[in-house]
Amino acid sequence: MTNENRIALVTGANRGIGRAVARRLAARGLTVLVTARDPDRAAAAVDRLRADPGIRAAGAGGERLWPLTLDVTDAAGVRAAARQVGDRFGRLDVLVNNAGISGGVEAQLPSATTLETMREVFATNLFGVLAVTNALLPLLHRSAAARIVNVSSAVGSFARQSDPGHYLSGQPPLAAYPAAKAALTMLTVQYARELRPAGILVNAAAPGACDTGFTRELALGRRITRTADQGAAVVERLALLGPDGPSGGFFDEDGPVDW
Ligand code: NAP
Repeated sequence: MTNENRIALVTGANRGIGRAVARRLAARGLTVLVTARDPDRAAAAVDRLRADPGIRAAGAGGERLWPLTLDVTDAAGVRAAARQVGDRFGRLDVLVNNAGISGGVEAQLPSATTLETMREVFATNLFGVLAVTNALLPLLHRSAAARIVNVSSAVGSFARQSDPGHYLSGQPPLAAYPAAKAALTMLTVQYARELRPAGILVNAAAPGACDTGFTRELALGRRITRTADQGAAVVERLALLGPDGPSGGFFDEDGPVDW
């Protein structure tokens, strides 16, 4: 299957890593559904991507980029978005579950974390992935080579969180975000097991700490120079895996991440 025939959907594609993933996939020739929870932000992201020199050079401007409203926490909205994708394209080849929230640092010291914060972070970062994936699976099953990439985080790695030599051990302990990402990588493994017989490859990506609104909000005190585009590279790679590619893995740009 050539890239030009592939249709991809990226959640939270209006900014940060999601927008960088959409840009990379469009520049590789895919048709990309640029989704955002706010319709104006989805439209603005498409306008911005269409003006991107890399995308223009690839001749992928106009009809290859489509805005779509998708709030991953809105179950009815997710189903409606899936219907629109089905009506317009009839199938989906690549799903990138990128949308995510941090929950903020102050609210997440484990002993002080409320159930409300836990629910809010899990609603977007885990339950939203399940809702979006299940709504789109019938369309992914119609693809000859479907790929699902869940944008997780090395912050959700048990190995890294429990390594006293890793920089994470110098960061404040957080209740919600790391737990939601750890659960997301496990959900990835379970989807991979179920969908392998159908040829659908499902992997989790760790983009690494990138300078986005997300990390600025977290104010972790480290100066982050890595760009969203650099973080998007591993997501692009997993989205375009060949038929012999891995499934059920957790990867950053250097290879497998320790669970
Ligand atoms: P970001 O700049 O804050 O962007 C987050 C995106 O998710 C935005 O488009 C946001 O939309 C969207 N979003 C939030 N809640 C949503 C919802 N309910 N429905 C649909 N979209 C929603 O963050 P980022 O750094 O690009 O992060 C993207 C992903 O990478 C996240 O899953 C994050 O956990 C992961 N990650 C990031 C880093 C990093 O260092 N940046 C490292 C590891 C993993 P709005 O604009 O409407 O808010």
